[in-house]
Amino acid sequence: MSQYDFDLFVIGAGSGGVRAARMAAVRGVRVAIAEDLHLGGTCVNVGCVPKKLYVYASEYRQSMEDARGFGVEAQQIGFDWSTLRDNKKREIGRLNGIYGNLLTNSGCELINGRARVTGPNSVQVGEREYTAQRILVAVGGWPQLPEIPGAELAITSNEVFDLDSFPERIMVVGGGYIAVEFAGIFAGLGAQTELVYRGDLFLRGFDREVREFVATEVAKKGVKLSFNEDPQQIERRDDGALDVTLKSGEVRTVDQILYAIGRVPKTVNLGLETAGVELNSKGAVVVDDHFQSSTPSIYALGDVIDRVQLTPVALAEAMALVDHLYGDDKTPMPNYKMIATAVFCQPNIGTLGITEDEAIEQGLKADIYVSDFRAMRHTLSGSEERTLMKLIVEQGSERILGIHMVGADAGEIMQGLAVAVTAGATKEAFDRTIGIHPTAAEEFVTMRTKTRSIC
Ligand SMILES: Cc1cc2nc3c(=O)[nH]c(=O)nc-3n(C[C@H](O)[C@H](O)[C@H](O)COP(=O)(O)OP(=O)(O)OC[C@H]3O[C@@H](n4cnc5c(N)ncnc54)[C@H](O)[C@@H]3O)c2cc1C
Repeated sequence: MSQYDFDLFVIGAGSGGVRAARMAAVRGVRVAIAEDLHLGGTCVNVGCVPKKLYVYASEYRQSMEDARGFGVEAQQIGFDWSTLRDNKKREIGRLNGIYGNLLTNSGCELINGRARVTGPNSVQVGEREYTAQRILVAVGGWPQLPEIPGAELAITSNEVFDLDSFPERIMVVGGGYIAVEFAGIFAGLGAQTELVYRGDLFLRGFDREVREFVATEVAKKGVKLSFNEDPQQIERRDDGALDVTLKSGEVRTVDQILYAIGRVPKTVNLGLETAGVELNSKGAVVVDDHFQSSTPSIYALGDVIDRVQLTPVALAEAMALVDHLYGDDKTPMPNYKMIATAVFCQPNIGTLGITEDEAIEQGLKADIYVSDFRAMRHTLSGSEERTLMKLIVEQGSERILGIHMVGADAGEIMQGLAVAVTAGATKEAFDRTIGIHPTAAEEFVTMRTKTRSIC
């Protein structure tokens, strides 16, 4: 009989925690998992899932406008926020139930409440202390608000999905993918939308050409872009609206101000320091290649280690860790350099591998293929939307180093390309591939003339 209550105590039932708990439990490991909010974590409750549902909602108005060029006319386009919000709530409730069943059916003990680490092998939830041979910290992150007067009047991604009423005027602050996506959602749903970012161009880390292209496209969709700006103060007016004073001195009146300026690891008051776990300056748990912290019995993964904050990455980390601890250790560690990802703005961004600037910084010799065109749909829709596709190909080896796309369904298209590139596809393999006609994606296998070379 083990000296511990559990073999593995997982803190946080989000993407990474649930996957690790289930995978371990089905191998016969005695697992407990503690959650103090909702099962499924950020992704299911206030992240990927509700966001994508709202993205879908935001695209109908544009589709109906585009339809006119095809002879399809809707007399009136209405939008009811409460229908969207409440249908979303119902769907998330259904998913919460599924997560609960998955955990209990796999044999995990589900503990409701806030967990606190009290030692290398002990965790407290409420009044009760549990012991475990290993502890897995999968507590994710938490959105931030700035330290400016009136910041408490602003909302974050935690609140935005469940607003009582639809904001007719909204300011979104931030330059990351979440800010850009929310700006697209509210503009698409009909709100007067301004995106304010303190830098000179949003989406830092993405390919420069993509960022510039997206700025043009997002502006075409009616989002006012204010770069090199930053709110300094927020005040509530008598009529309930908010006056936001910007760095430039200009004042905007809006119904909501949404901050999406990054997320911090949720390690405050978690007790990790008392157990000897090293945290970095941002509060992220420092782990080695096998997700082990400076306290050997304590592991961490997902957003709390602040590597790549994406659900599939947390899932891949969880599978690799469980296989390392309780399996044959054959699951590879995630390759953080080759992660396909999408931004669900309008049009979407899909991206994989390195950017052109990274290729230059790394001193690589590469050929760049770029195609910028109007998708067939828009020859009749009348929309000015354009599509961008870009390949970065290493000279000599012909290896595809990076693929970038801005256009309809870029995320869907990139997933298939990611398989090919992960399998080692070269430009020659792309050229040999017969296209599917007529699609936008066929452009990726017909780009024959290089746009420029870097060396
Ligand atoms: C608005 C938004 C949109 C996003 N969109 C995408 C997307 O499109 N694609 C994508 O891949 N990723 C997206 N993400 C990121 C994705 O949600 C995260 O990367 C992912 O959820 C990380 O999983 P995790 O397990 O590390 O943490 P989380 O999913 O955050 O789970 C952590 C869990 O731990 C719980 N917890 C915390 N502290 C304690 C404690 N002390 N005791 C008990 N429980 C605790 C929390 O309540 C939470 O349920 C988005 C995020 C946001 C905010």
